[in-house]
Amino acid sequence: MYPKLIIDVNKLESNLNAVAEITRERGHCSLMIVTKGLCADQEMVKMVANSPKVDYVADSRVKNIASYADMVRAAGKKTVLLRIPMHDEVSEVIKYVDLSFNSELSTIRLLNKEAEKAGIVHDILLMIDLGDLREGIFFQREDLIRQAVSEILEMKNIRLYGIGVNLTCYGAIIPKYENLSKLVEIGRKIEEEFAIQLQMISGGNSSSIYLIDKGELPEGINNLRLGEAFLLGNDTAYETRLPGTTGDGLLLQAQIIELKEKPSLPIGEVGVDAFGQKPYYEDRGMMKRAIIGIGKQDTDLDSMTPVDPQIEIMGGSSDHIILDVTHCDRAYQVGDIVEFTLGYGGMLKTSTSPYVEREYKR
Ligand SMILES: *Cc1c(COP(=O)(O)O)cnc(C)c1O
Repeated sequence: MYPKLIIDVNKLESNLNAVAEITRERGHCSLMIVTKGLCADQEMVKMVANSPKVDYVADSRVKNIASYADMVRAAGKKTVLLRIPMHDEVSEVIKYVDLSFNSELSTIRLLNKEAEKAGIVHDILLMIDLGDLREGIFFQREDLIRQAVSEILEMKNIRLYGIGVNLTCYGAIIPKYENLSKLVEIGRKIEEEFAIQLQMISGGNSSSIYLIDKGELPEGINNLRLGEAFLLGNDTAYETRLPGTTGDGLLLQAQIIELKEKPSLPIGEVGVDAFGQKPYYEDRGMMKRAIIGIGKQDTDLDSMTPVDPQIEIMGGSSDHIILDVTHCDRAYQVGDIVEFTLGYGGMLKTSTSPYVEREYKR
């Protein structure tokens, strides 16, 4: 059945080995693999959990982690929750998560209570915001950082495992030697002032890996968290391909359901499209237009690229995508399958749409 996501587990594994080589061997960092981009796909997670090169398996959603916590723990690795927990999910966090990222004392207090009930000590990573302006205590407020650490260290069932930063997500701020050094400096200050040792100073996501081969990852950063770099082979700071990786470990297939010659300009008064947008059309004369059986409900049109470079995506609606196949050498027919590589948004939507089937290649 189509649409279908082809997941090439072997290619993902070679991507994993390539990013592990950079991160662990050359960067002297532990490797946290992030599973949310492919909605914690079980075959992908199985491969990741069993790889000797992975130290932690992380996701932003407790539900995804719950689906694989047993497998990851059985393989001797820790599960990690990346998104700051909601008050209402602390009991699930304590159950399925070994290390959670936090920035709110009220939440950490609840985690402490829940961990006490469960008779365990729960590890947390305190998030510091270096200017991307998503989660974390703002780096210039050293008073607030000190206050938080001091209270956390009093909690019997919470252990401060380390500190971390997230960049290039909301504010699109690029990790550099300068901003990441600030994180290391904050870590060292905490260690000195409280006479403790932090296990982890986590220096970001797939946008930080490029610093390693430039020799610009500050000493002291000892962990990176990689999703897109592993799944799609992308350095997300400057959108380059990471050495030794491929971008076609995931392929989207869809079937042509209509193929007709029609004009390129719609006829009649132009209103708004199915999503309330005013469309723009270019007059290209008569065209060969193919409709495939997939739509905006299942994928992101701006985040998919036809494998046949002569195909152009014209647009779409909830359940249809229209392709310009006028200039294709291949004589497409109704029933033919068209393939696409994916960007992050396309991967996220296709892997979370219940309408997209999956097939595994090895
Ligand atoms: C999603 C996420 C990551 C992974 O991001 P990639 O760009 O896919 O590597 C890492 N850390 C946090 C906090 C995240 O939310």
